[in-house]
Amino acid sequence: MTVRTRFAPSPTGMLHIGGVRTALFSWLYARHHGGTFILRVEDTDRERSTDEATQVILDGMQWLGMTADEGPFYQTRRMDRYREVIDQWLVEKKAYRCYCTREELEELRAGQMAAKQNPRYDGRCRDRTDVREGVPFVIRFKNPLDGTVVVDDQVHGRVVFENTQLDDLIIARSDGTPTYNFCVVVDDWDMAITHVVRGDDHLNNTPRQINMLRALGTTPPVYAHLPMILGSDGAKLSKRHGAVSVLQYQEEGYLPGALLNYLVRLGWSHGDQEVFTLEEMIQYFDIKDVNKSASAFNPEKLLWLNQQHIMKAPVSVLSDGLREQLLLLGVDTNDQSLLEGVANILRERARTLKEMAQTGLYFFRDFEQYEEKAAKKNLTADAMPILAALEAGLAALTEWDAVAIHEVINIVAAQFNVSLGKVAQPLRVAVCGSAVSPPIDATVALLGKASVLVRLQRAHRYIA
Ligand code: GLU
Repeated sequence: MTVRTRFAPSPTGMLHIGGVRTALFSWLYARHHGGTFILRVEDTDRERSTDEATQVILDGMQWLGMTADEGPFYQTRRMDRYREVIDQWLVEKKAYRCYCTREELEELRAGQMAAKQNPRYDGRCRDRTDVREGVPFVIRFKNPLDGTVVVDDQVHGRVVFENTQLDDLIIARSDGTPTYNFCVVVDDWDMAITHVVRGDDHLNNTPRQINMLRALGTTPPVYAHLPMILGSDGAKLSKRHGAVSVLQYQEEGYLPGALLNYLVRLGWSHGDQEVFTLEEMIQYFDIKDVNKSASAFNPEKLLWLNQQHIMKAPVSVLSDGLREQLLLLGVDTNDQSLLEGVANILRERARTLKEMAQTGLYFFRDFEQYEEKAAKKNLTADAMPILAALEAGLAALTEWDAVAIHEVINIVAAQFNVSLGKVAQPLRVAVCGSAVSPPIDATVALLGKASVLVRLQRAHRYIA
């Protein structure tokens, strides 16, 4: 059997990390088994669905590299298909017209509440044969009246539902539009889904869906309901905890592989390994190893993992990301060798690509001001002759590389009989604007001779 999984987000809110984790587990399961992954946009709630949210789903999935083998399918484009099944069910008497008015249903409900029963539709239209012209009706599915529905959930284990607890679900509203649970069933059937991986807020829909799938004469797929992701304070994940559009993580300078690595560990583990490549995730992932307790979102750990991935990423990935981050800071550069050089020199220090762009901005344009404390301490009258000697030494270099630059720093330190720091720090503040940078010889090498000399002259003027 070929594994076929799907990710079926509703574009009613921005795709956030909760949804991405669901997508990831579904995608990994398909990839692990050499199966097919399908993207289906569940946009039947027209009032709450937005084009913007749909676009975030498409862009987010692309950014994360979770490509779909089939789709995206849109439920709003499948209305004829849903109607076809409903009509067929009416003919086969698997569904029926229900003419109950709102008042009637309210009365029924009130009576059940008074008798301390669970409110549920009592099926009073189930066997009616008359067709009432001009009277609005909904269409309900004839749920089995007795017996149980067993869900052998891959995460939660065996969950048993009594059919007596399920009433006859409305599958089409009075305006003819099909309802959510019904569309999911037709889609899962048409798309031959073998494994449904989704949030456990859908576990209670599952017995109804299974009954409808059986009515279609098919074997229901295997289900895996994933536990929720909580905020670090234990409350349901919300915007306040970072449940923002997934694209914001791109903007903040996270690597897609790092975000996926972070999310794969929310509820799944492989020994005590923390850092995974995509290939490792695909190789090791199994839905059976997902645990059923909710896990908490920890932004600090995500940052740490991002740094781990930045340290190992191919330089071209970093330079591309860095270029985008620089654009957001108003720097438009195509200097590939500088971008790569900066990425390599900062990869050990930056936790995000945004941080990399911010802390390395001086490589791409002259800084506006010296950091006050650093300038006060290092750009002093005492430093003036040292900087002048450096300028002369560096200007005379014919080979512009870290080794030669280091040699100049050594010579100047010896000449003034001071420690290396007394030379390196004023130089650092002069060329970077602050007292923090990667190793100074490599930094100066990367900045290039022309900029370094201009910045040394600027420091000179500043002191004078
Ligand atoms: N559209 C549903 C949601 O976004 C998912 C339904 C499913 O996976 O069956 O929560």
